[in-house]
Amino acid sequence: MKRIGVLTSGGDAPGMNPAIRAVVRTAIFKGLDVIGIRRGYEGLLDGDVMPMTASSVGGIIHRGGTILRTARCERFTKPEGVREGLARLKEYDIDALVVIGGDGSFRGAYELHKLGYPVVGVPGTIDNDMAGTDCTIGFDTACNTALDCIQKLRDTASSHERLFLVEVMGRHAGFLALEAAVAAGAEYVLVPERKFDIEDLCKKLNYAHKRGKHHSLIIVAEGVMTAADLSAQLKDTGGYDARIIVLGHIQRGGSPSSFDAVLASRLGGGAVEAVVRGEAGVMVGRTSGNIVTSPIQCSWENKKDLDEDMMELVEILGI
Ligand code: ADP
Repeated sequence: MKRIGVLTSGGDAPGMNPAIRAVVRTAIFKGLDVIGIRRGYEGLLDGDVMPMTASSVGGIIHRGGTILRTARCERFTKPEGVREGLARLKEYDIDALVVIGGDGSFRGAYELHKLGYPVVGVPGTIDNDMAGTDCTIGFDTACNTALDCIQKLRDTASSHERLFLVEVMGRHAGFLALEAAVAAGAEYVLVPERKFDIEDLCKKLNYAHKRGKHHSLIIVAEGVMTAADLSAQLKDTGGYDARIIVLGHIQRGGSPSSFDAVLASRLGGGAVEAVVRGEAGVMVGRTSGNIVTSPIQCSWENKKDLDEDMMELVEILGI
């Protein structure tokens, strides 16, 4: 093992830069060369590569996004694309690849692994929907960004006695919505993992209103429905007039929180250590405070469930 490659792929997440920095500097510390591959698998197929030095990752630990940039690559989802990617890795004498990204990127890495090529995954996505780690890189920062926005809305909601619907990211997973709902003290949360009943929501809002509560916050994960659709349903069923806010891509940006910068540094370093130990086809994760590895396919094969106690907390505290 002389030279490793590193790429970021799929949706960007705050903390990808400290992860790249940790991979590069740990590898150099271990006596390895590092090649940075720009724009994920797209850049791999295009040969968009550059040697990385300790100083090339200087001054990035606090920056959101990814200096290697990221992309979605249709070509790589086909067997010929994966074979071509493998040929490129061999052409550049890259002996192992560290993939920083979400479960889609890990599926791509798994295809390389099945061809006998050593890959290690570092979980980076604001969705936190990957098993094998308690937390993915970027989730904490996204929660804090959402919380900051919701707290500002709460001021207006209470001053003007309004009902606000906040749409947060999460096409298939409600981790971000649930975390934000508990942290912001929302009255109700809609997540893709649970059935939603408009009558039930109207009943809760009516009850809260009778108790003398004149403002409410509802968090809706985009995978359930848009805030606009929810607003229409609330109008039709309960006659409610709600304001809607879509947080959108601001949730993916910004400087990584302390938690994410530390997590990214530990997982990036852990990935290189796994490579050096000769582990392949694995992902690194942090479970119960420890840096661990597990088979990369576990990240999507084992479903990570929402915490039922947290769902109940929203019910109990949001009355
Ligand atoms: P994320 O990593 O954030 O989940 P995507 O799901 O968009 O993002 O996946 C990123 C890229 O990973 C895709 O554009 C594609 O190039 C690659 N990829 C995803 N699934 C597969 C697959 N089954 N086989 C090969 N490559 C894949």
